[in-house]
Amino acid sequence: MKKTSRRTFLKASAAAAGSALIAHSTRLSHAAVAKDAIIPKLSQFEYSEVQLLDGPALEQFNTNHAFYLALDDDKLLKPFRQRAGLPAPGEDMGGWYNFSDQFDPPKNMTGYIPGHTFGQYLSGLARAYAITGSKPTQEKVQRLVREFAPTITGKFYVDYPLPAYTFDKTNCGLIDAHQFAADPQALAVLNHATDAVLPFLPEKALTRPEQEARPHKNISFTWDETYTLPENLYLAYKRGAGDRYQQLATRFLQNKEYFDPLAEGKNVLPGEHAYSHVNALCSAFQAYLITGDEKYLRAARNGFDFVRTTQSFATGGWGPDETFRAPGSGEMGESLTKTHASFETPCGAYGHFKVTRYLLRVTGDSRYGDSMERVLYNTILGAKPILEDGTTFYYSDYNNNASKFFHQDKWPCCSGTFPQITADYGISSYFRDPSGVYVNLYLPSRVTWTQNGARTSLTQTTSYPETPETSLELTLDRPASFVVALRIPAWAGPKTTVAVNGTRVTGDLKPGAFFPVERNWKSGDRIEVTFDMPATLEAIDPQHPNTVALLNGPLALFATGDLSAKMTKAQLLAARQAVRGSSDWIVETEAEKVTMKTFPAIKDEKYRLYHEV
Ligand SMILES: [Zn+2]
Repeated sequence: MKKTSRRTFLKASAAAAGSALIAHSTRLSHAAVAKDAIIPKLSQFEYSEVQLLDGPALEQFNTNHAFYLALDDDKLLKPFRQRAGLPAPGEDMGGWYNFSDQFDPPKNMTGYIPGHTFGQYLSGLARAYAITGSKPTQEKVQRLVREFAPTITGKFYVDYPLPAYTFDKTNCGLIDAHQFAADPQALAVLNHATDAVLPFLPEKALTRPEQEARPHKNISFTWDETYTLPENLYLAYKRGAGDRYQQLATRFLQNKEYFDPLAEGKNVLPGEHAYSHVNALCSAFQAYLITGDEKYLRAARNGFDFVRTTQSFATGGWGPDETFRAPGSGEMGESLTKTHASFETPCGAYGHFKVTRYLLRVTGDSRYGDSMERVLYNTILGAKPILEDGTTFYYSDYNNNASKFFHQDKWPCCSGTFPQITADYGISSYFRDPSGVYVNLYLPSRVTWTQNGARTSLTQTTSYPETPETSLELTLDRPASFVVALRIPAWAGPKTTVAVNGTRVTGDLKPGAFFPVERNWKSGDRIEVTFDMPATLEAIDPQHPNTVALLNGPLALFATGDLSAKMTKAQLLAARQAVRGSSDWIVETEAEKVTMKTFPAIKDEKYRLYHEV
């Protein structure tokens, strides 16, 4: 008889204990946690392993954490309780969140998608708990799941315009409650919620024209986003919700109309709804990871490339009026006078971060990190905080006569993605592989992990990008050899340097790649990176080559004051920072001095991103 080793025995008893727990808590005792076919080059840290330190990103995360923790449970549950015929105390939250007789799309969007963001608030809080360990946050997540469970009924989706949209968010919230807030009921509740929605979902993912061709009560019934379902369905499958989630995910992959042409290099984005189609690229990614089918990787990579190269503003934002445009049409340039709805910011940034994390991890290409940081510093970090009554920052405005404004409807989609994106700042900042750690975002933060047996932490101190440098200090319980790979942005100039303990590191420092620094690290070692941040001009599109935005490194700069000031290319490129570390830059023209500001520094003043030169 073969002797059972201690290790095998331990593994077997841990598995037995694990399945006993599952059997107690859910009816899914058989559900194994599935594995990916593809292991990305770089892996993500746990939420708990990265802590943001004092700075604008931490402030935004903390503000959102406190805001969503304070939301009233009864108000959050009201639309679900009403439809289930249960007592439904509390006031209406209003806006998109509650059923309303006023709903008359597209004229009046009050009552648009009742309960749609419930799952996103749950997800944002579950991630915030994983980061902070805040007990009240975990208790709120578990309480909301418990109170949501008895409200689940198919009646909720009768005459409901976007069942897939809302279910996708509910699914995300429940699998995050399970994964990040140790909720013992969440997967069982998800199975119940899935049973309730299935009769209301179509047989496959539908495009808008396909939805328009079917009988529909009003226009809003043609806006559902079935094609975004697979990402969270695959995640549900992988986190142990059951095999049917893999089958459901496969059923909603939009192959023929979207992923197949994208994989062949055909740009099918023009005319499509922007955010949901970027979000759908994340479904392609999960399909790639689970099945190993390279088609999905090509689709996601090409799709993102089309967004970045043909649909994007200098800020990294994309999709004016939430719609992708035909390359060569000049419509990006025309949008500067035609709309103020230039970039759907919290949702778009959330999708952008997700897809660039996938791309960065799979390819190891640091330029996806460059794209992520543009969106961070020029869009989402400048979002106005959500107000008590659900008034939400939604569109960034790149019109030639622009201002920061709130969306007219309370509790819109962007109130759901806002706490999710701010919770994801930490896990987007660092990645790892067996050789060491990759520094992706230059944010004040600390990552803690075990490397070659050594308990290691890396503490980053910086006010980048307002100052062109960052400092990273290592703490180890014993010396260890590994790589610290630094993202050198593609825009970085030749004077960019890396030093360890004051001595410049020699080597092939290439902009647009990670720069690996390998040595035997000991506690107190310090890495200093100084970026050569050039001023550059970027045209809005090839049809408007003289309509340009000014960037300093990754930072887009917005003119304030006299918005019709005439500036030449040379004057723009000679912009100088008002004082070191300031968020103001000065452009001197013959007639005046124009103050240029970063997006987060703009308050209520009018501003302008693009200039005729
Ligand atoms: Zn949104």
